[in-house]
Amino acid sequence: MEKTLVILKPSCVQRALIGEVISRFERKGLRLAGMKMVQLDDAILYEHYAHLKDEPFFNRIKNSMEASPVIVQCWEGLEAIKVVRAMTGATNGRNAEQGTIRGDMSISSQENIVHASDSPESAEVELKRFFNENELFEYKPSVFGYLYANDEI
Ligand code: ADP
Repeated sequence: MEKTLVILKPSCVQRALIGEVISRFERKGLRLAGMKMVQLDDAILYEHYAHLKDEPFFNRIKNSMEASPVIVQCWEGLEAIKVVRAMTGATNGRNAEQGTIRGDMSISSQENIVHASDSPESAEVELKRFFNENELFEYKPSVFGYLYANDEI
């Protein structure tokens, strides 16, 4: 099963959308393997958004991500990285499809509610960035047989 990193950004925390977002992932059938509230700082954001460090808006996103605590989560499921990205929607909330988290809850390219890993490689690096090994939990949901067919897993 794949694991992916989700960050509920300050726009999610401040607008009291934490429960709404979590409940979408739960309803989908993803398993929550870890979750904690953290205050991000410059060091971790330079690392996390290294691919954007030359963008004119880099300082803005850094300040936006430090504006309040965030919630980091690890969700697990079959093809969880692809599934969670699809549920997240396009980066700019104005372009994101209705029915996605950003399409339904964001009207901004910056204040777009969630971060989600975009590939198996980044999920692996990002989960290590935000979680210690003992903060991720293995357990089998009792409804497992109703989430997947035997030959899917
Ligand atoms: P995604 O979060 O969809 O993977 P990126 O990795 O390209 O997208 O960007 C990381 C974050 O930087 C976005 O989620 C958004 O908060 C912010 N961002 C990206 N592009 C812009 C932009 N043009 N203006 C303002 N903020 C942006």
